[in-house]
Amino acid sequence: MRVLVVSDTHSNLEALEAVLADAAVANSADGRGFDLIWSLGDIVGYGPNPNECIALIEGYEHVAIPGNHDWGVIGKIDLEDFNPEARQANLWNRQQLTSASRKYLEKLAETRVQENCTLAHGSPRHPIWEYIIQLPAAKASFSFFETPVCLVGHTHLPVIFRLLPSGECQAIVPPEQPVQLSRDERYIINPGSVGQPRDGDPRAAYMFLDTEALTIEHRRVAYNVEQVQQKIRARGLPSRLGIRLQHGW
Ligand code: ZN
Repeated sequence: MRVLVVSDTHSNLEALEAVLADAAVANSADGRGFDLIWSLGDIVGYGPNPNECIALIEGYEHVAIPGNHDWGVIGKIDLEDFNPEARQANLWNRQQLTSASRKYLEKLAETRVQENCTLAHGSPRHPIWEYIIQLPAAKASFSFFETPVCLVGHTHLPVIFRLLPSGECQAIVPPEQPVQLSRDERYIINPGSVGQPRDGDPRAAYMFLDTEALTIEHRRVAYNVEQVQQKIRARGLPSRLGIRLQHGW
């Protein structure tokens, strides 16, 4: 099965549309697009199009889990736990949410096991809030899932953590080429963020996973950042949330 893995879309419709268009014709392997979508959380929050992003993903066969922003927007966690700009934007997202969107977010299970992968927004240990940035957190996380692969988002940083049979843990910045995973190793993999990349590259990030061949491919695609910035201004959302999109932080 060829899976399109997305995370941290953050109500950025232009970025999500660009990813879906790119993924449908991706000139990789046999160029056959994808069979379904796995969304690793934070479809909403920060950006200007929460309902449209949910509706777009819902239109595909997909599996989704919630992130901290999704839960903040529907009131499952306190918006006081977010920084002031995120809080303001998430309050606005909450006010825009249709009852259908709210119901969609409310029914998402915290973690899922699909094929040979565990899906968790932050980490398998604390799915909603823990950030896996450094090796010690990655290494500790391998004890909290049983599948060969765990897919996470939350940091908005594309990365591959590999656990070698020796117990050594390594972090790899994903290359542009497809990567063959080894059946002798275990992995925690972050596809990066669709709607708010933070690795200095403003292009939307996503990933393909072939669950049978065990290959992954991280990809980037440019989208119309100015259009999103215009919407952010027009809706009175914090301007810094627009500025950061053009710099990828
Ligand atoms: Zn996020």
